[in-house]
Amino acid sequence: MGSGIYNAHEMKALAKRSAREGLELVEAETPRPGPGEVLIKVAAASVCGTDLHIYSWDEWSRSRIAIPRIIGHEFCGYVEEIGPGVEEVAPGDYVSAETHIYCGRCYMCRTGRAHLCEEVKIVGVDRDGAFAEYIVLPEKVVWKNDPSLPIRVAPLQEPFGNAVHAVRRAGVGGKRVAIFGDGPIGIFACALARKFGAKSVWLIGLSTARLEIGKKLGADEIINASTQNPVAEVRRLSGGRRADVVLEMSGATTAWANALFAVRPGGRVIAFGLSRGQIPWDLNTVVFNEIEVIGVVGRLIFETWYETQELLTELDISPAITDELPLEDFEVGFQKLFRREAVKVVLYP
Ligand SMILES: [Zn+2]
Ligand SMILES: [Zn+2]
Repeated sequence: MGSGIYNAHEMKALAKRSAREGLELVEAETPRPGPGEVLIKVAAASVCGTDLHIYSWDEWSRSRIAIPRIIGHEFCGYVEEIGPGVEEVAPGDYVSAETHIYCGRCYMCRTGRAHLCEEVKIVGVDRDGAFAEYIVLPEKVVWKNDPSLPIRVAPLQEPFGNAVHAVRRAGVGGKRVAIFGDGPIGIFACALARKFGAKSVWLIGLSTARLEIGKKLGADEIINASTQNPVAEVRRLSGGRRADVVLEMSGATTAWANALFAVRPGGRVIAFGLSRGQIPWDLNTVVFNEIEVIGVVGRLIFETWYETQELLTELDISPAITDELPLEDFEVGFQKLFRREAVKVVLYP
């Protein structure tokens, strides 16, 4: 866990300690920063879909997570202490962090694509995370926050950055855009598609409450896939033409199938949502319609962070924060997320 050097003090943390469903509030040793590392006192941390996977202890998390592990990766806080050799940040700095710890040495890192690093270590997955009073991270991933960014919003920069990267890659200017998935990223994508000049933005999901938040942030039309046929609705809204661009941000098997029929021939599908299992794919539909399918992961390091910082001075994404809780009450937030009643849950250690 962390740098391996600990002081005598203990801290509160949310951890996966046993190989079964659920998480435990534990007392963990407060980590100390080693060379090139920074100790950050966590002010706020938000819950991500990844944390739900780890809570559920599904196939992916069983194969990836070494227990015990403190989880959580979307956060903000204040630098408490710096290790030897740290030069750019100082105690007291208000920070967040890129959660993909890139190696800086591999081919992808050295050719300007560090978000595709082949040796990547993910915070709260491959090393201890931010659902704790303190976290230690390498200086190279620490991001100095805009001082005017509220503490409750700052943790959202990381997932919002995912949406920025995906919507930029989609190229939405002047386009009819259909977004599958009413989770945080799909909702953020509505705000961004509108901001980047989409002609129309249609959000497809399963939760009325979440869809309404998407509408508040920028969707022109919302389609509830539990009562409506998304493909038929997209055809109707586009006068039969279908969407120019589809962003698949749900990872659901049915959404994937629908995405290929909601996009027009020659259109673009952004593959972002992570599926729980194998997705059966109609490759012939892709071939015969020259559909362009593009995978998108993470954020461009640090291009997306600079863009995110600027966008957050103009866009208010705080309606996506549905719940704010002390870390001790994590169970309430996680259960609301499992029931799709919450969008973003912010925890305060
Ligand atoms: Zn996340
Ligand atoms: Zn690398």
